[in-house]
Amino acid sequence: MKKAPSHARRGLFTFWTGMPLWKQIFIALTLGLVLGVVLNQTGNADLAASIKPVGDLFIRGIKMLIVPLIFVSLVTGVASLQDLSTMGRLSAKTFALYLGTTAAAISIGLALATIFKPGVGIDLGAAKAVTAKDAPTVTDTILGLVPTNPIEAFATGNVLQIIVFAILFGVAIVLAGDLAKPVKTFFESAAEVMYKLTSIIISFAPYGVFALMTWVAGTYGFDLLAPLAKVIAMVYLGCAVHALVVYAGMIKFISGLNPVRYFQGSIEPVMVGFTSTSSSGTLPVTMMSAERNLGVSRRVSSFVLPLGATINMDGTALYQGVCVVFIAQAYGLDLNTSQYLTIVLTATLASIGTAGVPGAGLIMLSLVLASVGLPLEGVAIIAGIDRILDMARTALNVAGDSAVACVVARSEGELDQAVYDTAHVLRADELLANPGVPEEAGLAAPARTSA
Ligand code: ASP
Repeated sequence: MKKAPSHARRGLFTFWTGMPLWKQIFIALTLGLVLGVVLNQTGNADLAASIKPVGDLFIRGIKMLIVPLIFVSLVTGVASLQDLSTMGRLSAKTFALYLGTTAAAISIGLALATIFKPGVGIDLGAAKAVTAKDAPTVTDTILGLVPTNPIEAFATGNVLQIIVFAILFGVAIVLAGDLAKPVKTFFESAAEVMYKLTSIIISFAPYGVFALMTWVAGTYGFDLLAPLAKVIAMVYLGCAVHALVVYAGMIKFISGLNPVRYFQGSIEPVMVGFTSTSSSGTLPVTMMSAERNLGVSRRVSSFVLPLGATINMDGTALYQGVCVVFIAQAYGLDLNTSQYLTIVLTATLASIGTAGVPGAGLIMLSLVLASVGLPLEGVAIIAGIDRILDMARTALNVAGDSAVACVVARSEGELDQAVYDTAHVLRADELLANPGVPEEAGLAAPARTSA
């Protein structure tokens, strides 16, 4: 067989590496989907599953970044504040937006499932007994925010405890003034190093996404999905409606920004979230894309995004809304108004308590079912197709974090409009490029502050 001329191969290689990252990921996702479906339909699901370790390798790579990345960037962000009251304002806005969008998401899920009735006519014979998860008390939750040993928080990857320690550490740097200068410079430099490392790992996203997509499409055949197709459709439709109405609306009407750019700029983390089904795992991608594609300052992104990946789960809340109504319908039970309100409240809290890892939302679903006295066995039906639902809800979870980061950054004068307005600056070859000798003091500018 004749080999392709080397310049043609080189041309193809440069064409691929020079392509915007989102296009690479999109092509990988589509190819993985097609290959997975073909393997599934030809009885080669095992072959599709054998490619999964490549995806796992990528996910391990991004997970490796989470703890050091959050810590150094949040310390740097807080330490760069001139005035500590900024922190309080930032937190208030972030929490309000996270809670508001989550409540809207459940309402959309409840409304869609009530209108389209996905559970009517479903046979629940196969349901197995499930036990409900106990909800932690409010006191335990608050106490649990403060680490008794920060090293343990790092070692176990407890993001909320790391956030609390990082904020306090950053505040102490501000208060210590000149004496803390070497520590501050060290963290600024460490943040740059972590961002470079993040770039390197993220440039492998297309290969990881391809492997994970092939595995999912190869494992879940149409036969498994068909009986629950309506629930799947409701969750996917709900996620699309929420993104198009709530996020685009916030970006346009609260921030006065172009929503199309928001969707373009957050597409990389959305696709990585979709295939990895972990919003915590996707965090480094979300942070990098918020900064580089959407112009969110590091100060805002390093606070808003890790918090969002831990507590803001609009997709999970929406999914819980759909599933609760679905299960009630499948059992032939009617929900009254006070039960709907209870669902909004418990699903908001349950989604806050859901970890940003694969399948966590399904476990928390039992809590929401228990709050309105529905049979927990319903969870077992959903379990069979949960990965497919998890993909959509994680994509929405990640999109929600990016949207709130843009809105908060804009209102704080910390969004670089020129970057926001430029389409897709993240490119695989640039991520890997050496920036050369940086200006001044060996550091690239850590945060953008122009409005
Ligand atoms: N997998 C979701 C996430 O990481 C959580 C869930 O299962 O709902 O955001």
